[in-house]
Amino acid sequence: MSKQVRNISVIAHVDHGKSTLTDSLVGAAGIISMESVGKRRFTDNRPDEIEKGITIKSTAISLPFTVLEKDYLINVIDSPGHVDFSSEVTAALRVTDGAMVVVDSVEGCRSQTETVLRQALQERIKPVLMVNKLDRCITELQFTPEECYKNLERIIESTNVIISSYADGGVDNVQVDPILGNIAFGSGKTGWAFTLQTFAKFYSEKFKTDTDKLAKKFWGENYYCHERSKWQTSPLSKSGRLLQRGFCEFVLGPIYKLYKILSESEEGKLYENIKSTVEKIGILVTKEDSNKENKVLFQSVMMRFIPASAAMVNMIIEHLPSPQTAQRYRSSLLYNGPLDKYQTSISECNPDGPLMIFVSKMVPMSGSGRFVAFGRIFSGTLRQGHKLRILGPDFNPNTDKDAHNSTAQSVMIMMGKKMESVAECGPGNVVGIIGIDKFVNKSCTVTDESNKDAHPIKNMKHSVSAVVQVAVETEHASDAQKLTDGLKRLSKADSLIQCTFNDSGQHVIAGAGELHLEICIGELQGYLKGIVIKKSKPIVSLTETVSSVGEKCLAKSPNKLNRIYVSAEPLSDDLVRDMESSDINFQDAKACAKALTERHGWDSEEAKRVWAMGPDEQKPTNVLVDCTRGIAYLNDVKDYIVDAFRLVTASGVLSEEQTRGIKFNVVDVHLHNDSSHRGALQITSMARRALLGAMLAARPRIMEPIYSVDVQTHESVMGGIYNVINKRRGVISGTEQTCGTPICVIKCTVPVLDSFGLTEELRSVTSGQAFPQLGFDHWSVINCNPLEDQTKSNNLVKETRIRKKLNVNIPVLSDFVDRM
Ligand code: GDP
Ligand code: MG
Repeated sequence: MSKQVRNISVIAHVDHGKSTLTDSLVGAAGIISMESVGKRRFTDNRPDEIEKGITIKSTAISLPFTVLEKDYLINVIDSPGHVDFSSEVTAALRVTDGAMVVVDSVEGCRSQTETVLRQALQERIKPVLMVNKLDRCITELQFTPEECYKNLERIIESTNVIISSYADGGVDNVQVDPILGNIAFGSGKTGWAFTLQTFAKFYSEKFKTDTDKLAKKFWGENYYCHERSKWQTSPLSKSGRLLQRGFCEFVLGPIYKLYKILSESEEGKLYENIKSTVEKIGILVTKEDSNKENKVLFQSVMMRFIPASAAMVNMIIEHLPSPQTAQRYRSSLLYNGPLDKYQTSISECNPDGPLMIFVSKMVPMSGSGRFVAFGRIFSGTLRQGHKLRILGPDFNPNTDKDAHNSTAQSVMIMMGKKMESVAECGPGNVVGIIGIDKFVNKSCTVTDESNKDAHPIKNMKHSVSAVVQVAVETEHASDAQKLTDGLKRLSKADSLIQCTFNDSGQHVIAGAGELHLEICIGELQGYLKGIVIKKSKPIVSLTETVSSVGEKCLAKSPNKLNRIYVSAEPLSDDLVRDMESSDINFQDAKACAKALTERHGWDSEEAKRVWAMGPDEQKPTNVLVDCTRGIAYLNDVKDYIVDAFRLVTASGVLSEEQTRGIKFNVVDVHLHNDSSHRGALQITSMARRALLGAMLAARPRIMEPIYSVDVQTHESVMGGIYNVINKRRGVISGTEQTCGTPICVIKCTVPVLDSFGLTEELRSVTSGQAFPQLGFDHWSVINCNPLEDQTKSNNLVKETRIRKKLNVNIPVLSDFVDRM
């Protein structure tokens, strides 16, 4: 019964062939017919996915395999490669232990390859490499075997460079090496692939050498001299002839030969031409095959010769860890609590331990409006009817905030589009839970109802930011409630999307980019059958910051009985980045103080007096510091001041956008000695005014988001692309040529504000020969004064204020600051 399990994600740059390869696996497990492999893309099953030909949501599928009489279950998640959907990749990685990284052999490692590989390594996910589309090197680029080898060598080297820059040392042997067998080469579309071991097995009898030894001869400087019947490291034979390297002769040789026969065969003649050659390598072709079209016959021959599924399944089983192995080194990274029984049970993958599940995404159930919570069991066994405790993202072990009790109505295993209900499921598996969706927004930790002292599993880090927004409203006010419900559903289903609700009935959806929002609106429209949604043009999220050390500002409470002085100043970019990537753990005051003093040069006294980071506790970008000494009653009102800090950092003084990179100093406070005169309302409103005033006094600035843009194109049309990029305030940082081809990649940055329609414009100036990838890169200060009329940032602030139905005039210092 107990099957060996592997949980793997398939990750890559968009279009490098993940879905097609996943198909090969699905086909080999007998779930779709082998004939349709490479055509149907089983995992792309949403109408918008089929229409756009890309994968949007990651799909999980459990595949049973028997290898050497052992039963295995491989849970595969095919994830989307387009940057706009990278939050789906993050969710996929969290529940898996290994990743098959797919790289197109012509395009090589691209920006998104690096991003997903980095994400994988940060989660301690072990990679194997699948170099795909080798058929393109043979037929399209017509590389000689030696050129092909050099190209593969280069791809492997650049993959290992990425791996060594991001691996944290927690996982052993993460480098990929063809000799080890953790690299496969092939063509997903034609259904073939191999590792060096595949060929070493074929030849081991002929060479009378065991497979591992022989595999070593099939890479690097190893040549077989037929005259001496010996392997040697020099390319010259005994009689001085130039030899082909082992890889080219024995591995690529037969493949090139078969392709040559294909290219020289007229339609309908392949059967006759290829029969004797393939029979020599032990592949029987039958009468039935003689009627097939060349292409179909060729694919079926290749699939019998070196089936892609076998190469991948062997590589996955041999080189990617079982949950038991992986959880040992992942547990400390996964669990947010101390070394307690929960962490121990996770690291042991103990079926009898306490239940610990991380729900990484919510999958809509067709038609019903309900969701399946989809996640990974790290410890314990989940049963139907299980009484559960659900810890949300705001859970706090001290206050029990955001903890709910619920029951698992059903336990599901995913099979692509379908789900099957099971009575119970043990640790190391990927499961769906029905019945808890009411309590889960995007992600959560699930434990037994009785585990009151369990800490949650760490939340996921998303590598994208929601920087583009669109405002939506219904045509008829009577439909407003339905829109709100639809948006709540959308927000549950998409791990990145942020929906903000506004009293005026106009709601805002923020996502990663134009494409992401387009898909979300399509989804929303689907929920709200028949109701017309009006949407605004895309709006770019801006943030507010300060550019100098400001004067301290005084504000009094509404009852005039308390007063506070606050000043604001900019934080260094490095610190903001560290805070945002949660490299600084604010929950742990000591570690936080240490990081601030050692890495960011803060005064040690000050570093101990950080009161809060915000606005988002997961990815904060601003700090509130207490700079006072011995103030009576200050501890009683600290939380009220922190509340004001959260309000202001979520909604700054210029246009009520989030603030970024501001350090607020509480300089002095005077509090009334009667506690009834210094309640929450008095203190929060006073502190809020002082914080807003402090921002105005520290030369406020607007920041805009910047995309990094990679344009893959043909060298002949580069000029047109440069023009478009320059016109849109873009900065070109370099170009890379794919060796031996006219294909090149232009790397640049473009402000999100100037990015709308960029993809279409680039396609049209190059007659469809440009393939841009846009991804959020960083925030950049707009260097002009938003308080001065008619500057660029002043115009942006005013536009935002008008859109938000605020008074068009930006507040002035006297609106907030009181006199003594
Ligand atoms: P994904 O975006 O990574 O999921 O990529 P897909 O599997 O959707 O494939 C993208 C495109 O590449 C499709 O048009 C496929 O037909 C094509 N493709 C996939 N594998 C191969 C291959 O091995 N060789 C060639 N020439 N094309 C392939
Ligand atoms: Mg895909």
